[in-house]
Amino acid sequence: MKEHAFYSRMRDKLGIREAQNLLRTQRIFERKDGHSLCEQTESWIDFSSNDYLGLAKDPELINAWQQGLTIYGAGSQASPLVTGYLTAHQALAEELADWLGFDHALLFNSGFAANQAVIHALLEKGDRLIQDKLNHASLMEAGILSPATMQRFPHNDTARLTQLLDSHHDVPTVVVTEGVFSMDGDLSPLVDIHQICLQNKALLMVDDAHGIGVLGEEGRGSCANAQVKPDILVVTFGKAVGMMGAAVLCNRTVHDYLINFSKHYVYSTAMPPAQAYALLTALHMVKTQAWRREKLTEFSAFFHEMLGDYPQIINTETPIKPVIIGDPAETMQIAKTLKANGFFTGAIRPPTVPPKTARLRITLSASHSKGQVDALVTQLRKELSA
Ligand SMILES: *Cc1c(COP(=O)(O)O)cnc(C)c1O
Repeated sequence: MKEHAFYSRMRDKLGIREAQNLLRTQRIFERKDGHSLCEQTESWIDFSSNDYLGLAKDPELINAWQQGLTIYGAGSQASPLVTGYLTAHQALAEELADWLGFDHALLFNSGFAANQAVIHALLEKGDRLIQDKLNHASLMEAGILSPATMQRFPHNDTARLTQLLDSHHDVPTVVVTEGVFSMDGDLSPLVDIHQICLQNKALLMVDDAHGIGVLGEEGRGSCANAQVKPDILVVTFGKAVGMMGAAVLCNRTVHDYLINFSKHYVYSTAMPPAQAYALLTALHMVKTQAWRREKLTEFSAFFHEMLGDYPQIINTETPIKPVIIGDPAETMQIAKTLKANGFFTGAIRPPTVPPKTARLRITLSASHSKGQVDALVTQLRKELSA
């Protein structure tokens, strides 16, 4: 019997990826103490995770989740509008809204789902969605699937954004940017973008997956840091907050609309209440343990001081340190040598990043020690001059 066309198509596309040196495979790790990562018999210091504040393995947070399990059980047992939304969820939502200065917070199981939810619910045929070209795949995917017209502007190019908004004034428009760009670690010019949106009556949505917890007073993120209040703010809990899940911060109208029209919200099981309970502790830690952010600032300054003269190193104000190599094979080779010396870094290749910008994505964490960062920097200096 002839094989189904889907299979041959999939194999062809996988073959192309492989030939381009871009094939991804699933690997299996263990995490040990001291921010280390293990695979079978090998182990490295992990410079690739998004656990910027070092909360993921903190005993205080682990204890809170265990306590939550004891109080609430393992699962939420239903979607939020049926019976899955419990007092723990409400306490978390209220805390988030208070902390970040919004009327409401709506909880989602992931940032990917939250982004899809907002874009799919809000935008209709004839509307316009304008995004930064480097926005996360979850935002791009939502835009591509949306019946609205999507336009993209070159990364952080506010002149081009203004130009796009100058035309079609009458079309309802949403502008979406990240607060901190995940693969570049740079910030969005939020003050300018906010101003441009106000002038052109466009709604502003900010995805602050990598800014929340890290930037601003009490870790309130990129928007607080820039003193900008967008119409819609998406924060995620899988990065600096050390857990997983997400929230959409918004006003009453958007909140009411989403709980009525967002299929991602209505038809998905609510996050376990134990998780919501633990997230409250995580937020408390983010707010009150400023030493974690101070440690990151110190590591970051040291990193740039020691590596400032290497053109591959991009200076950033965040714990995300891209080292732009360009060629995917060379990037893999450098990552391999780093690994051989005990350092695990992310090797990021197209299509995650634009062609010719394959890079190491090094991330710093408050759970690193000064000695670990020092050792990484010393090794990088060797490899980048080679
Ligand atoms: C990680 C990330 C997401 C997705 O969040 P998850 O909770 O991991 O699904 C969305 N946006 C950006 C910018 C991200 O970096």
